[in-house]
Amino acid sequence: MLSWSSVTRKPLPQLTEEGCLAGQLLLRYLVSQILLQTDRNDMPIVHPRILEVRAPALNFFVLRDEKGLYVIDGGFIGGWRLLQNALRREGWQDEPVRGIVVSHGHLDHILNVAHLAKAYGAWIAAPRLDADHLDIASGIQAVHLPGHTAGHMGFWWGEEKLLLTGDLFVSYRDEARLPLDIFNLDSQQNVRSIETALALNPRGVLPNHGSLAAPGEHLRRLKRLHKRVSASRTGN
Ligand SMILES: [Zn+2]
Repeated sequence: MLSWSSVTRKPLPQLTEEGCLAGQLLLRYLVSQILLQTDRNDMPIVHPRILEVRAPALNFFVLRDEKGLYVIDGGFIGGWRLLQNALRREGWQDEPVRGIVVSHGHLDHILNVAHLAKAYGAWIAAPRLDADHLDIASGIQAVHLPGHTAGHMGFWWGEEKLLLTGDLFVSYRDEARLPLDIFNLDSQQNVRSIETALALNPRGVLPNHGSLAAPGEHLRRLKRLHKRVSASRTGN
């Protein structure tokens, strides 16, 4: 049942406020890479109903169910083109895009959201509370994973035991790391949110900043990160 009270077609100014500074810094970093942005033909098959849209420094996701498609975050500069190309490659280009779901307000996640909503006539949802449910893909539950931002959310697909983790961690070169402190509101809270995520006992996780890898591999990296940060906190 759709119970997200914040469904809106507006461009989420309240989200940009919380992520404004970090978003601006991230913008500088990502713009420096944007000329290298190319479409990737080696898209990973993370799940038959999940498409991963990849760019050099970030990814975003499209979920499919019997009613249509749902974009989870909207990518950054060039994201519109990458999305269209990815949908075409997957053969999903004629499926209706019904909704866009936002994990948090950083620019590399929301830059295209208003445009996508207008182009597709789709709703936008930014969950406010834990346990909000959205009636997509047999039920997705929003999970509050604060730390990166105060309102940072993950999305738990319980039926498949997959967790979309937003910017809870980054996962490159066979290693998971916390997002850089300058992008994190509270890194210690972020660590507690990693514990919240692992307590769901997922079989895989899908970060927005990660190398080409299966959800199970990202999960193994996240578990190793959790061990490292737990050991450093206890002084072992
Ligand atoms: Zn972020």
